[in-house]
Order: sequence, then C-alpha cells, then structure tokens
Amino acid sequence: MSRFLSSRLATLEAYVPGEQPRDRRYIKLNTNESPYPPSPAVLRAVEEAAGSLNLYSDPTALRLRRAAADVYGVDPEMILPVNGSDEILNFAFMAFCDSRTPIAYPALSYGFYPVLAGLYGLPRQEIPLRPDFTVDHRDYLGLGHPLVIANPNAPTGLCLGLWEIEEILRANPDSPVIVDEAYVDFGAESALPLTKKYGNLLVTRTFSKSHSLAGARLGFGVGSRELIADLTAVKDSTNPYNVNAMTQAAGVAAFGDNGYYMDNCRAVAATRDETARRMREMGFAVTDSRANFLFVRHPEISGTALYEQLRDRGILVRHFSRGDIEEYNRISVGTPEQMEALVAAAGEILRKH
Ligand code: PMP
Repeated sequence: MSRFLSSRLATLEAYVPGEQPRDRRYIKLNTNESPYPPSPAVLRAVEEAAGSLNLYSDPTALRLRRAAADVYGVDPEMILPVNGSDEILNFAFMAFCDSRTPIAYPALSYGFYPVLAGLYGLPRQEIPLRPDFTVDHRDYLGLGHPLVIANPNAPTGLCLGLWEIEEILRANPDSPVIVDEAYVDFGAESALPLTKKYGNLLVTRTFSKSHSLAGARLGFGVGSRELIADLTAVKDSTNPYNVNAMTQAAGVAAFGDNGYYMDNCRAVAATRDETARRMREMGFAVTDSRANFLFVRHPEISGTALYEQLRDRGILVRHFSRGDIEEYNRISVGTPEQMEALVAAAGEILRKH
C-alpha cells in the first residue's frame, strides 16, 4: 500500500478473480466461460469495427440497445450496456446505496457483492442460506433497504422461482432490488418481464457465459426508464465510452444470432445434467444447478485435494478458500469431451485416494 491511498480504502479487500493461467494448456473449467466460440457473424462484425478504432465508440450504444430491446422485449430506454456485468453492479451500488443503509445479499453468493460494499463503505446484511444452500425468499421480504440476489445463485447454481422474486419486489417497494441473472440462460426463469411492472427492479445480464464473449466484456442493466436514467448518469460521470466499438458490434451481431447462443446454452445444460448424474454415481454430492457450473463435494476427498489433483492432471476448477465451502469445488460445464476428461480424472483420483 502506498502512503497516498485514501484512508477510506485502507481496509479494502479486493476481488480475486479466478485464475487465467498462461503457463500451460488446461481444460479450463474455473471461470464459467462458454466452451463454444463466438458465431462467425460476431467475428466479422468485430473485424469490421476494428477498421474504425480511431473513432470513439457510440456513448449511447444505440444500435446495441435496440438489438437488446428486441430480444429482451423492453424499450431501448430500459437498457444500459456495460463493460461486463460487474460494471453495472458497480454503477448500481454507486447510484442506489449509501453508508447509512445496509445492502443485503445471500451470505453465500457472488464474491463481488461484499467487495463493492467494502469499496463504498456500506454496511452489509449477509442473509444466511438454508443448510441445503437454498435461498429462503421469505428472508428478503420487507427489508426496507437495497438488496441483490443472483438467480441462479453462485456458486451453488440453485435458483428462486419467478413468483418468489416477485414477492420480494412487492415486499420491498421502496428499495432497489437487483437480480443478477448472469446464469439465467442455462435454465432459470428470467425476471425481465417484471421490469415493466416494478420500478424498483434492476435485472443484470452478461454475455460472458451464455454468449461466448467473456473476453469482450459485455453486460446489460435492464430496468425502468428512471432507474436506467440514473445509472446512465453514473456511467456518463465515470466512463462515458464504457463499451468499446468492437464489443458493441459484437453484441449487435450476437443478438442477431441469438438462436445459435440459445442452442449452445441448451447443449451446456444437457452436458451439465449428464455430468451431474455421473458424478453422483461416483459418490459426489452435487447441487441441483441450473447454471453452467456444478458445485460438488465428495465425502472421501477434501475440496483442496481434489482441486490440486485435477490441476496436476491439467484440469482447472474453482476452489474457494472460505470455511463454509472449503470441501466443495465449482466446476464450469465445458464440452462433452472436456467433461468426459473431468469425470475420468475424478474417477482416477478417487481410486488412488
Ligand atoms: N454475476 C455473477 C453471479 C457472476 O458469477 C459473474 C462472473 N464472475 C458476474 C456477475 C460478472 O460477469 P461479467 O463481469 O463477466 O459480466
């Protein structure tokens, strides 16, 4: 730490992203990327946009908002494109939270929420899960302050039904409710239609998982015109050209090919369910994930040992060093071939153990 860092940030615990190793080629199942490439139309659009990189990107991302509006079934004024959905979470915390009121979220969820709370000095209300890791939506009724819920939740993959989200919205009419739908395309019900009915709902989406664009950094905030106007003001006051020209072009083309991406999501979901079945047969406890990852534990081998031994075999999964889940690993769903290799390696590790 330098002697210049603001005292406000002296205790900041920064987010630690999953490893992106360059030392050797891994079967990379640690950061929930899509195993499938972007569609050819996206690659062409990026190449074409690259020719105009001397110019700033459109700060209003109008074409992209229109393309998103068609697919999401809302008006373009209800959408803010962002540089990965982490950015919309940041904007939302900046815009809607302050140090006098807590921000609530499930005690086991996306690790970025407590980091943002720390960044803005917000009191945190971390709401415990049930022992089976499910979120009890009744714990979120009538909170009276902002809250954020990932649906499906991470790293468990478990989800709430739309009626439960709607009850939360109805029971917190005067507080913003952020529903982080990073993984929704793999099998959960989206709250997007509710954005027209509830002015307190902000849905966040990402193209990092379902649309094969993790490296392009593209996400969206979707909500009432008023919410999006506030968030756009924050965007314009921090980084007006937040989505670069190649990514805007990629996003427009990806929305144009939405069928290709939805087919990929269905393929990932099928691979996920088949892998879960096989891992359960091997004695793993596996949550009923609706996301593009599995959350697994085996009674006979520690989470760390499994992580390390898979890594030694060239398979990278995500292990979190926090006490309540240290026996678990989160395994992104890759291609059927990659998951075949994972199951084979896990079987060999268990036999040797
Ligand atoms: N929300 C959740 C629940 C996530 O797991 C992630 C991925 N780390 C994100 C948001 C952010 O994704 P991105 O910034 O790549 O859009």
